[in-house]
Amino acid sequence: MKTSRRTSSGIKSLQKLLIVFLAGSLVLSASCSRSEQPARETRYLMGTLVEITAYPATDRTRQAVNRAFARMEEIEDQADPYGSQTLEDLRRGNPSLLPAALSRILDVAMTVADRSSGAFDPTVGRAVRLWGFDGADPGIPPDSDLTDAVKTFGYSHLAVGPDNVARPLPPGRPLWLELGGVAKGYAVDEAADILVQEGVEAGIVNAGGDLRSFGPRPGWGQWRIGIQDPDDPQGLLGVLKIEGGSVATSGDYERYFEKDGVRYHHILDPANGRPSRSGIRSVTVIAETCALADALATAAFVMGPEKGLRLLETFTGVEGILVKAGGDLVVTSGIGERFDLERR
Ligand code: ADP
Ligand code: MG
Repeated sequence: MKTSRRTSSGIKSLQKLLIVFLAGSLVLSASCSRSEQPARETRYLMGTLVEITAYPATDRTRQAVNRAFARMEEIEDQADPYGSQTLEDLRRGNPSLLPAALSRILDVAMTVADRSSGAFDPTVGRAVRLWGFDGADPGIPPDSDLTDAVKTFGYSHLAVGPDNVARPLPPGRPLWLELGGVAKGYAVDEAADILVQEGVEAGIVNAGGDLRSFGPRPGWGQWRIGIQDPDDPQGLLGVLKIEGGSVATSGDYERYFEKDGVRYHHILDPANGRPSRSGIRSVTVIAETCALADALATAAFVMGPEKGLRLLETFTGVEGILVKAGGDLVVTSGIGERFDLERR
C-alpha cells in the first residue's frame, strides 16, 4: 500500500471509528524572542502526526526538514508489513534480503526481544492483523483464530545472517513480522540524524509523543516534555527535562477500542495474542536512541511494573516512568531531577 492511501485511511479512522490515537507525551513550548523562532512543520506519517521543530529558521534548515520527512517516508514504506516485499517473503516462509533500514530496525527489535524474554516480540504480526489494530476497523477476533496466530509467534524462529538475509527457522515456517513497536522510533532517529548532518543546530522530531531532541534549545537550554496522564490524556502527569536524546511512551490509551465496557488496546501479550493486562497504564522511556526507547516502552508495558522496571534498570543510559493500573508511579533509580511530578 502506498503512503498516501495509508495516510487517508488513517485519518478516516481518526474521524469515524471508536479507535483512539493519543500521544504519550507532548513538547511544551517556551516563549522565546523573535530571533529564536524555529522552522516548524507537521505531517501525517506512520499513523500519527509528526512535528519537526528546528533551529535556526533558515532556508537551509527548512530544506533539511524536508529531507528528514522524506527519509521517514522511506522507512515507513520499508517497515510496512503489507507493502514490503521482504516482509511478504517471510510471511510465505521464504528467506529474504533485508533492506538496510529494515536490518537496523530488526537489530533493535531482536535485541529487545531477547532482553525482555520475548515480552517484546516482532513476530506477533498475525495477531495485530486479526485485531485490526493496523487498520481502520478493529474488533475482537474469534478465539480459534487467536490460538492459531499464537502458533506463528516466536522471535527465535527468525535468523538474520551476516549476509543480511533473514531466514525463517525451520525453513518454510511463515513469519508475520510487525515492527510497529519500534519502526517509528527508528524513523525519528533517522530524521534527527539528517537534521544534525545538514547543520541544524538544535531541534526535536516528535512522532506522536515518540521523540528525539538534539542541541541546546535556544533561550531555554533544556527540552521540556509533558508526560500525559493515562487517566486524563488531556492533562499532564509530569514534566521531563532533557538536554538531548529520546523519549517514547507506550500506553493503553494511545490506540484502543471499547466493547461491552472493556478496553482493548494495541499492545499484545505474546503469550496469548491478547491486549496485555500486566497492571500497567503507560510506560515512558528515556534513551539515547528513539528506536530503543520505543521498543523498551512496549516491552516494559507487557512485562508489568516490577519486571518492566527491572528490565529498564539493566540498560545503561535508560530511565523510565511506569504508571500502574491504580495510578501509582514507579520510576527508575537514575531519573533524578529530570522528572517533575505535576499532581498527586
Ligand atoms: P505506538 O505505535 O502507539 O507508539 P507502541 O510503541 O507501544 O505504540 O507499539 C505498539 C505496536 O507494536 C502495536 O501497534 C503493534 O504493531 C506492535 N506490538 C504490539 N504488541 C507487541 C509486542 N508484544 N511486541 C512487539 N510489538 C508489539
Ligand atoms: Mg513502542
